[in-house]
Amino acid sequence: MRNAIKLIDGAVIGVVGGGPAGSFFSHFILKQARKRGVPIKVCILDGKDFLITGPRGCNLCAGVVSEPLCNLLEEEEIVVPERCIQKRISGYYIHTEQSSFKLLNIHGRKEITTVYRGNGPRNIESKGVISFDDYMVQHVLNEGAEIIRARVREVKRIPGSGKFLITYGEKDARSEIVVDLLVAATGLNTNFLNVLTQLGFGYHPPKSLICCLSEIPVDNLDNEYLSEFIHTFFLRIPSVKLAAIIPKQGYLTVSMITRKDSCRENLEQFLAHPIVENLVSESSLPLSPACFCHSRMSIGPAKKPFADRLVVVGDAGMTRYYKNGLDSAFLTAKMAASTAFDRGISNDDFKEGFYKPGMALIANDNRFGSILFGLDSRLSRWRGFNSAKARLAQRQQSQIGIATQEILWNMLTGNQSYRQIFKQVFSPKMMLGILAEWVKTLLGMTTKP
Ligand SMILES: Cc1cc2nc3c(=O)[nH]c(=O)nc-3n(C[C@H](O)[C@H](O)[C@H](O)COP(=O)(O)OP(=O)(O)OC[C@H]3O[C@@H](n4cnc5c(N)ncnc54)[C@H](O)[C@@H]3O)c2cc1C
Repeated sequence: MRNAIKLIDGAVIGVVGGGPAGSFFSHFILKQARKRGVPIKVCILDGKDFLITGPRGCNLCAGVVSEPLCNLLEEEEIVVPERCIQKRISGYYIHTEQSSFKLLNIHGRKEITTVYRGNGPRNIESKGVISFDDYMVQHVLNEGAEIIRARVREVKRIPGSGKFLITYGEKDARSEIVVDLLVAATGLNTNFLNVLTQLGFGYHPPKSLICCLSEIPVDNLDNEYLSEFIHTFFLRIPSVKLAAIIPKQGYLTVSMITRKDSCRENLEQFLAHPIVENLVSESSLPLSPACFCHSRMSIGPAKKPFADRLVVVGDAGMTRYYKNGLDSAFLTAKMAASTAFDRGISNDDFKEGFYKPGMALIANDNRFGSILFGLDSRLSRWRGFNSAKARLAQRQQSQIGIATQEILWNMLTGNQSYRQIFKQVFSPKMMLGILAEWVKTLLGMTTKP
């Protein structure tokens, strides 16, 4: 039997990356340590300054904080301050070539919020400190974590003790720290994943897509249609798979997943589409991005995100398919921190306490998500399918209408597991309902929704 490896008094934990996964991990490990009366040192290493505007200070995300995450944060008494909240969202609009329709929160709440991960788009007029990631780092600093504002360059396992030596800083000012536990929370937009791979414990980064994000300044966000709703688009633009417009104060964030790695022309094609042009023309400024970036989105779990004294959380480990990356950062961080104290920090501890439950909760569930998104994308190319879906969702009073709204709501918000949504979609009632509506649409037996 292998020796147990435990966190003992005075243990040093190095958290590489101060994005949400790194901050959430620090929050949970410090909470566990306080509860058990074990003094530990948590040291976050990140070279990014979240108070810089534009992509350099941002962790490149659309900034939608889901309803489940809002609730989880509340349970942890993490109260995101008003200054960081850009908008509270009433619901979604779904736009297809044939129709546009509204989905309101079925529970009538407004708990989805939007935030900036950094301190806003490039050249934003100063609004003080509005960065969500900065707020989270400050929160864990207040709880006792420390931060080294530097990029990690190298990591080596120390022979004998099995601890890690982390080298950080610029070429002419390198420093080192020895840690009992290394937590990789670097996301996907980094070459640190090569450093992890080269450690040779079997890690392989998640498969990912390059997506694009852009901030469009607008000067008329008084109308509720633009300012309180997230607009999602399922349009026949060959290069664009999914796109969303997310309201912020004075800006609209465009977030796009494209069929191949995305680029600026895809954004131009999207903005030039008549449905998009029409929507955004409500705001009187010309459509010109103030900020543009590429960012990686994970579409599969990493291979072996754990080893003795090492665990990989957040995007670099595993995350939910196409959505709720912040929620996945929270959940993986919590599982890793609980394992470290409940079981220990060996390879086998992380395998049992972190990897297996994480795969069950996130990665295995993603298989259902990938089938649902794939099927919808294929069927949407068939004549009448989108119209039939829209008609069903607009039957407010019928059971099938409510079920369709629920399915669409959960697909967009991530409020339910994909497995649960899959079951709802493939229930005989739903299948018959959509088929009947589709046939009616094709035979022209319906009035316009
Ligand atoms: C286009 C797009 C839109 C998205 N929109 C949403 C959304 O609306 N809502 C949502 O919940 N999720 C969204 N996501 C997913 C979300 O962005 C991620 O899931 C989330 O940021 C993951 O958090 P993380 O902490 O794992 O990584 P990150 O947020 O990427 O943070 C990693 C941190 O590690 C630091 N780092 C990297 N390398 C090093 C190094 N060598 N040394 C020190 N520090 C390092 C970085 O500076 C960074 O601060 C979106 C993703 C994409 C691509």
